[in-house]
Amino acid sequence: MATLELRNLEKHYGGVHAVDGIDLAIADGEFLAILGPSGCGKSTTMRMIAGLEPPTKGDILIGGEVVTHLPPRLRNVSMVFQSYALYPHMSVAENIAFPLKVRRVARAEREQKVQWVAKLMGVERLLQRRPARLSGGEKQKVALARALVRDPTLFIFDEPLSSLDAKVRAMARSELRLLHDRTGITTVYVTHDQLEALGMGDRIAVMEGGRVRQVGTPQELYAHPADTFVASFLGTPPMNLLEREGHVLGFRPEFVHLAGAAGASADALRLQAKIVELEFLGADWQMYAHVGDEANPQKLLARMQPPEASALHVGDAVELAVERVHLRHFDKATGRRIAADGD
Ligand code: ADP
Repeated sequence: MATLELRNLEKHYGGVHAVDGIDLAIADGEFLAILGPSGCGKSTTMRMIAGLEPPTKGDILIGGEVVTHLPPRLRNVSMVFQSYALYPHMSVAENIAFPLKVRRVARAEREQKVQWVAKLMGVERLLQRRPARLSGGEKQKVALARALVRDPTLFIFDEPLSSLDAKVRAMARSELRLLHDRTGITTVYVTHDQLEALGMGDRIAVMEGGRVRQVGTPQELYAHPADTFVASFLGTPPMNLLEREGHVLGFRPEFVHLAGAAGASADALRLQAKIVELEFLGADWQMYAHVGDEANPQKLLARMQPPEASALHVGDAVELAVERVHLRHFDKATGRRIAADGD
């Protein structure tokens, strides 16, 4: 196990600053999710940590030691990608044993370790099969077993679940997290899926344009986003952002209520709104409304629970309320949060 530290890490491809100065410290045994849209520099960062790409600038430390210029094999980092890249002509057992074979580990020890990880990942009965005869979820488990067998000090996952269908993905997600909790191996998990990051990470680093926008626990980032980018990237549906005189006002859709029904307090924000659409989502309703100037309205989204929602109709004019503690304020020009009451 080990800590991981990135110091002012940069990677340029010609004029493109794929990674533009990242500082991150990851604790021993921590599970850090790196979240960001496509092209924000996540993969490039991971490739530099694994040693597959030299940085233009900055340093990488594993377990307190500078590894910036060490080749991959001396870093003991295990990387699992979206494509599992299992060797098709080898059995599952041979696939799992491969990293040990490369390291010239003796046969008896190899077999013992393969049995151990196969048991840990629940793939013992698949050991003699070829990859072509495995389901997506099984391939993923085998890829994990292969990554795990070499006893890595650091795990890097780069969108490892994105090729699985939704149901298998949810299962694989909790399995991966369990695997981490059992082994305690420091893990960096790259994803563009905010639900994965929220559900799995001890902490999340949100990236955009080659930089880290914010680092914190999922709860911190959700409740106190550092800027409008983080505010709208985390959460489905995203935070409402309304333009106000000089600033931007943010609040989550689940904190919007009918002013009358909810018994809103005297100093709650009140909004006159017109309902434009109601969408039934099963457990609750999603309400789309317009607020402000009718000629140039601003859009608002609310999550309404059944008792409140049953009184609503498209076209209704309603008064909505949001308690002050749930309001977030952002600078209009920079998008950065402005500290204010309850924030
Ligand atoms: P992500 O993993 O977040 O989708 P990447 O790290 O793959 O983002 O890419 C970040 C940026 O760097 C993108 O603009 C991408 O086009 C660019 N980039 C990545 N690899 C190369 C490369 N080998 N040559 C030139 N540009 C690259």
